[in-house]
Parts: sequence; structure tokens; C-alpha cells
Amino acid sequence: MNFISTRGGEAVSAAEAIVRGMAEGGGLFVPETIPAVSEGELEEMLGMNYPERAAFILGKYFGEFPQEELLSEAEKAYARFEGEDAAPLVKIEDGLFLLELFHGPTCAFKDMALSLLPYLLRKSCELLGIKEQILILAATSGDTGKAALEAFADAERVKVAVFYPEEGVSKMQKLQMTTQDGGNVDAVGVKGNFDDCQSAVKKIFRSRECRDKLKERGVILSSANSINIGRLVPQIAYYFSAYCDLVTSGQIAAGDLADFAVPTGNFGNILAGYYAKQMGLPVGTLVCASNRNNVLTDFFRKGTYDKKRTFYRTMSPSMDILVSSNLERLLFEISGRDSALTVERMKALANAGRYSIRAEELKALSQTFFAGYASEEDTVECVYEFFEEFNYPLDTHTGVAMHVARTYCRKRAEDVNAEPRPMVVVSTASPYKFPQAVYYALTGNDVKDSFKGIKRIHLITAMKVPESLKALRYKLPRFKTVIPSDKIFEEVLNFVG
Ligand SMILES: *Cc1c(COP(=O)(O)O)cnc(C)c1O
Repeated sequence: MNFISTRGGEAVSAAEAIVRGMAEGGGLFVPETIPAVSEGELEEMLGMNYPERAAFILGKYFGEFPQEELLSEAEKAYARFEGEDAAPLVKIEDGLFLLELFHGPTCAFKDMALSLLPYLLRKSCELLGIKEQILILAATSGDTGKAALEAFADAERVKVAVFYPEEGVSKMQKLQMTTQDGGNVDAVGVKGNFDDCQSAVKKIFRSRECRDKLKERGVILSSANSINIGRLVPQIAYYFSAYCDLVTSGQIAAGDLADFAVPTGNFGNILAGYYAKQMGLPVGTLVCASNRNNVLTDFFRKGTYDKKRTFYRTMSPSMDILVSSNLERLLFEISGRDSALTVERMKALANAGRYSIRAEELKALSQTFFAGYASEEDTVECVYEFFEEFNYPLDTHTGVAMHVARTYCRKRAEDVNAEPRPMVVVSTASPYKFPQAVYYALTGNDVKDSFKGIKRIHLITAMKVPESLKALRYKLPRFKTVIPSDKIFEEVLNFVG
């Protein structure tokens, strides 16, 4: 399978798309054709465990990678997760399920893909005969950063630098990043919000001059953000896996539709769900849930994406994003893969801060997507009530998704012609990763110290505390640098040496 850019140009191999992270001119790599999974193959997947399902999906896109190696690497990656299943589907009540994606080393769903990325990158370099050092740059709203640091710590011939908004991540997220071990890592706070970090990092990727300067030092740039196709493909697997689990547990028959609700920021997670549907998975509606930064809700309702609006810091910080990068891939698909039009729209977004899509495109989107958002009060209320009702503590991001999912389900229930369908809410973080916000939602009380928060949530809920978060308590921060966003490249050069 080759990959093409959303903004036009030559097709490249999977290995090249993975190493480059982003296409020339700022475009994103997409598969030349979206591969299909047949009914028979889906049936085969029913009998597989999670690493087998993941390797199967990876093989559809990354055919040049040996299939047995994909499997053994997936087995290794997901063996590092707590519990037997890397992506368990938990039944809450009839028709309502949580897909828990937070059992990895950093307690958020980013681990699902980032645990595999080191292998994908290493193998890609091998296939391409690349001998240089690889520098992974990542802008992070909190979770990608830690997952990338953890995945690549002490990896050979790789260095990782992550940039996070100094005041835009939770205390726990910051502690996770600044205490990271490894001789090849750097975590840097940036004055500004996630969009500032992301646009500064993307600028480095687009800049010939920056790439040349790095090349002089024997370094090649790559990305661990969800703009990298190597991030996206492993995420498709858990939609298939959740569906298979619905079938094998007798909740639905093979072929029945299932809906998914996804707490959305950079549009990477939900885009993987869209690809799963395009591949033939019987997905009904994809519920795109936003927090108060509801730029996507407006886009799906009105057909205009307008980033010029107030940026809010919320209790779901990993979704505090106004420019959702991966939406570019969806725009490319719904325009009939029109790269010229995609370029035009991305230019309008950069210059005027907005663009609109055509009425028929909006209509097509509304057949797959339902968009909504949760205010801060809605989120608190949802986490509180969900615990009251089901004795299950949601993290605040998942709380946003649950709120919107329930709004959608109520709407659907009003339609007498609508067949009942299971709703799978994608749970993206452990509640212990955002202890202060979750404790507040559960009790209405504040707790200043994150570890006290963890302890109290545990007392109330009895949910197991992840070992990796417990261990953080005794670690000292190693990284203290905070810089303005226009100094990121300088910091990169210093780091590379
Ligand atoms: C990254 C993240 C999200 C948003 O995912 P996108 O792929 O950026 O849309 C939601 N919740 C948590 C906990 C995250 O870490």
C-alpha cells in the first residue's frame, strides 16, 4: 500500500510516510485506497486476541512489513499493558458499553498507537536504509507527550522532544513528562496553548531550512503526533476489536450496526473510527464529542470551520484544541479526494481563520457523524451521575463523550423507526490521570495535591490505581525549561547538540 498527500504530489511507501510524518507542503499522508475487510475476514477476527486483531489491521496498510513481525511486535507492545486485554469492552447496561483504552503505561489512549510506533519507525528506517539519527518532535496537549517519551525512552538512534503548553496540562500530566527517564528525551513547557505548540512544531516540519539545519547535524525529523499515519493505523484496530467483542459476547449479530462516541480534540481517534467504517466495519454513527472548545460541533452542524474564537482551558485539557489537524484527512475524503480543494481550504484556515464546505458534503457528513459538546457543568454532572448510577468513575474526557452520547441516544430513542443499536463510548483516560477534576466531579470538593486526590478517589470508588501513576509520587522532575513558542527550534537545536 502506498500513501498520498492530502495536498497532492507523489505517492510514497508506508515506510517513507511513517518516517516523514508529514508530507511536503504541509499535507497529511493517507492510504492510496482504503483497504477493505470482508465479512469473512471480520468473522476470522472474532476468534483473535487484541494483538492478533491489531496485527491484522496493520497488515492491511503496511504490507511491506513482515506479518509475523507485526504480530510479535504487537504482542510485545500490548504485553506492557495492565490486565489481560489491552482494550477491554465493559458492559455498563443493556446497549451501553465503555471501550477502556487507558491500560497502557501512561494511562491514556495514546499508548494504543505509541506503543507500536518505535517498532514501525525502526523497521521503516531499516527498509529505507536510513542511517541517520531520528528526532521525534511532538506537540502535546498532555497525553501524547508522555506516551511518546515513554515509548521511545532509550531507544537506539532516536531522540524525542515534546512541547506542551506550560499552563494547559494537568499537574499529573506535567509530572509524568518532567520526570521521564532516558538519556534521549526532552520535555519543554511552552508559553501559550496547544494550538501555539502544534503550529510551531508543524512549521518546523514544513520548513526546508529547519530540515537542512538538522540534516547538517545528521538528524532526520519524524513525528509522534497523530498527523503521522503510523499513529493512526493502530487506532483503527480497537474499533474492530470492540465490534468483535460485541459480537462474541452475544450483544449483537455480525453485520448489525454499532455506534461509537469519541471525546475529540485533534480528530485522530474518531478519524480512525471513520477509516474503520470505510473499511467495512458496520459502524452506525460516530458521535464527535467536544468540550467547551466546540469548534467541531459548529463545523458539523453548520459546515463552517472557524478557529477565530475564545480558547478555554477546561477540565478535559487533552481536548483543548481549536485547530484539529486530522480533520484535513476527512475533508480530503468527503471532497472526493480533491487535493486542490483541500489546499484551498487549509490556506483559508491559515489566512482567514475559516473555511466552509459544500452543502452536499455537509449532508454526507451528517449521515455518519453526530456532533455535540459538554460544558464544564455538563461534564461534572455527567461524571457525578454516572458514578451514582453505575458505580463507575469516568475521567473528565470520557465524561464529555458520555454526556454527548447520552444526548444522542435520547434523540435516537424519540425516533420510532430507529432500531436499537449499541453505543460504545470510547474511554480515553484513567480517572486517576486527572484526579483533581475527577474528585471535584465526584464530590464537589477540591483537593490540592494530585496524590491525595488519587487516594480519595480510590477510597470512594475502589477502582484499582495504575502502578505507573503510583510510582510517580517518588520521582523528581528532571526538566524545567519553559520557552516562548517562537524559540522551539532553538531548543531543538540545543537538544540535538
Ligand atoms: C488525546 C486525547 C483526546 C483527544 O483525542 P484526539 O485524537 O486528539 O481527538 C481525548 N482524551 C484524552 C484523554 C486524550 O489524551
